[in-house]
Amino acid sequence: MATKPSHNLVWNNKAECMPVEERRSLQLKRLQDLVARLSVQSPFYRNQFKKHGIKPEDIKTLDDLRRLPFTVKDDLRDNYPYDLFATPVKDVVRIHCSSGTTGKPVVSGYTANDIDMWTEMVARSLTSAGATYRDVVHNSYGYGLFTGGLGADMGARRIGAATVPMSGGVNNRQLMLMEDFGATVLTCTPSYALVLAETAAQMGIDIKNRIKLRVGVFGAEPWTEEMRVEIEEKLHLEAYDIFGMGEIMGPGVSIECAYHNGLHMQDDNFLPEIINPDTGEPVPPGEQGELVITTLTKEAMPLIRYRTRDITRLTDEPCPCGRTSVRHFKLAGRTDDMLIIKGVNVFPSQIEAVLLRHSELAPQYVLLVERNNNLDRLEIQVEATEEFYKLGEDNIRMFSEKLHYEMQQMLYISSKIIIVPPLTLQRSEGKAKRVIDKRKELL
Ligand SMILES: [Zn+2]
Repeated sequence: MATKPSHNLVWNNKAECMPVEERRSLQLKRLQDLVARLSVQSPFYRNQFKKHGIKPEDIKTLDDLRRLPFTVKDDLRDNYPYDLFATPVKDVVRIHCSSGTTGKPVVSGYTANDIDMWTEMVARSLTSAGATYRDVVHNSYGYGLFTGGLGADMGARRIGAATVPMSGGVNNRQLMLMEDFGATVLTCTPSYALVLAETAAQMGIDIKNRIKLRVGVFGAEPWTEEMRVEIEEKLHLEAYDIFGMGEIMGPGVSIECAYHNGLHMQDDNFLPEIINPDTGEPVPPGEQGELVITTLTKEAMPLIRYRTRDITRLTDEPCPCGRTSVRHFKLAGRTDDMLIIKGVNVFPSQIEAVLLRHSELAPQYVLLVERNNNLDRLEIQVEATEEFYKLGEDNIRMFSEKLHYEMQQMLYISSKIIIVPPLTLQRSEGKAKRVIDKRKELL
């Protein structure tokens, strides 16, 4: 956690720092309007409300949110492409969807007002990270159906920064343009930030002196504090965690401020809850569980109590930055990513945290899970750094044994550690694929 914040910029003081009571009554008013609107305009929610016996006038306090049914990802798939829209397609100005290569994607639509709100959310987020109109924003999020590229672009434009619409890929060219254009802010996934750092090292580029980056805004995948240290040291910038998801909006749903003590949820538009993922019941305040979000102001595709499958916890402790929104902590992982190995719950982030503590290792790893004779087996493949690899087999073997022990302490299960030569694992330009669960292929 930063002891001394690098700045205290706020984009929209009135909205971001409004008194807590005023914020709550705004949320309630917006929730009531939303339920009333969906009862008329959305065949999907009208049905849902009818099934659960809910009328708009039942929403009297914010606690009544809990009377509303959850929306899950399958609802989005089952209502492909437009059946969850609450406005006619003629009022929609943009359609994004998930980038999976198999099956039907998950669609989300935006009216002009939705795009305007989203732009404002990203403008707030970039400002929260200390970016201003003076900055040159090098945007390596993918442009296209993925919300990252266009989302970051719109916000950067609104704050008046010079935006370089780079997208991912062609790593050496990225570095050349960052240097030549004097990029000061980098936006991409945290795993791609590390790929860029690694490419610079291979090309012999002295990042500290040749590239002026001072701020990085990284999201679209869960990442650990250990990963933050690694990125900040290698790219010589201050790293900010931004959260968003295509179903809800895109980047800008929440963002860290300069105190780095959790991500401020833009809860005048996105109302968060934490539930026990197994029972659906709310967890006691401050406890960890699944993040659920209700979009209060979206017009084209509002979602009620959308189960994000991300695991985190909330705090409403005041933040010294002055923002009054609730904060969530760094995502511990996704319920989707949680592996059950030999009956034990394992999050890839726990493994990442152990691996990244060691300077002998590069921050590149793959987790391979297999089942042989009904026995689960976890193999952790991780790259050695150039320097460590040169020390030879004996050192690597000794280090693997030490790592095996540490991993066992953390996970309570045994794993096989394989230290692979530098630069042998596949790099990603967007979201990294770090888990290969071969058991799923057998089903
Ligand atoms: Zn703050």
